[in-house]
Amino acid sequence: RAVVALTAVVASITLAACSAGDVTAGNDDQLVGVAMPTTTSARWVADGKNVEAQLEALGYTVDLEYAEDDVPTQVAQIQKMIDDGADLLIVGSIDGTALTAQLAAAAAADIPVIAYDRLIRDSADVDYYATFDNHRVGVQQATMLLEGLGVVDDAGAPTGATGPFVVELFAGSPDDNNATVFYDAAMDTLQPYIDRGVLQVPSGETDFETVATLQWNGDTAAERMNRLLADTYAGTDLVIDGVLAPNDGIAIALLAALAADGYGTDAEPLPVTTGQDAEIPSVKSIIAGEQYATIYKDTRQLAEVAVSMGDALLKGEEPEVNDVTSYDNGVQVVPTYLLAPVVVDASNYEALLVGGGYYTEDELR
Ligand code: BGC
Repeated sequence: RAVVALTAVVASITLAACSAGDVTAGNDDQLVGVAMPTTTSARWVADGKNVEAQLEALGYTVDLEYAEDDVPTQVAQIQKMIDDGADLLIVGSIDGTALTAQLAAAAAADIPVIAYDRLIRDSADVDYYATFDNHRVGVQQATMLLEGLGVVDDAGAPTGATGPFVVELFAGSPDDNNATVFYDAAMDTLQPYIDRGVLQVPSGETDFETVATLQWNGDTAAERMNRLLADTYAGTDLVIDGVLAPNDGIAIALLAALAADGYGTDAEPLPVTTGQDAEIPSVKSIIAGEQYATIYKDTRQLAEVAVSMGDALLKGEEPEVNDVTSYDNGVQVVPTYLLAPVVVDASNYEALLVGGGYYTEDELR
């Protein structure tokens, strides 16, 4: 797999804001509230650290809070940020529909709001959205599933393989707008193969509501996998060849459930399994030949985009966006800056993740 060059616009975003001593005078009396969903997934820990460090390097005071996937906690944290006189809010929401009242209070206090990674829905008071191209993520996940099964080649062209390949499908949390976007995009790619019988889903479970995983909880996904193994597969010759897993936490939990069921031998290899986030356990799993691929979304870049949007807003300037049509939150189309997600597999993790300074060689050992 070729090492995909990041888009020029991304490459042009300078990391200078991270360097110590690069403090812009005059920002230190401005408070930025950063609300993140949870510390249970490594990516959000990295997101929080990167946003905080980059804002502090610009001289802002930062209140970074995590809500451990509890909606009332996040609502209370955002309300407190408003009460404390925050000048800007950057919000990675848990439930994208639960923040309408707080954002109305923010708007009443003239506090701009940037939705971080996840769209905040049903509110006129979200000013900007910084994210990776979520539709593209879903297409990439589906394409990697097809590639791992040998249905398409590494350029994405159909190989003519007819299968049938047995797959099961998993999606993310129904309260996270991203989860639907990922799944719908993946299914747009997979459906023609399902329709032609190249892919079979023996459980019959393909509706988003049925395959969704509340709060992206790996244990919940593993429980569903165990139910499928018991109800659909036990006592039959059917073997799962591929699993659409929406992120790395769920992929690792599903691979463990499958291994406990006897998968992972020469006779019954682990299924081709996708993921997202390029988290360390998954990169190690890819190196070990278990998880097939992940989608790398460099949290440093997302932090850069959100921070430069926020910095512009606080200076009374207009933030740069590159998409003004895709993200309708039910009330308005939110001006968005989309970053490019990148497929990572055994062939390119070293160049992208180690070469790109995201991880050290040691961290992946
Ligand atoms: C993010 C993913 C992440 C998931 C679970 C989504 O909104 O875009 O990167 O894996 O949430 O935390």
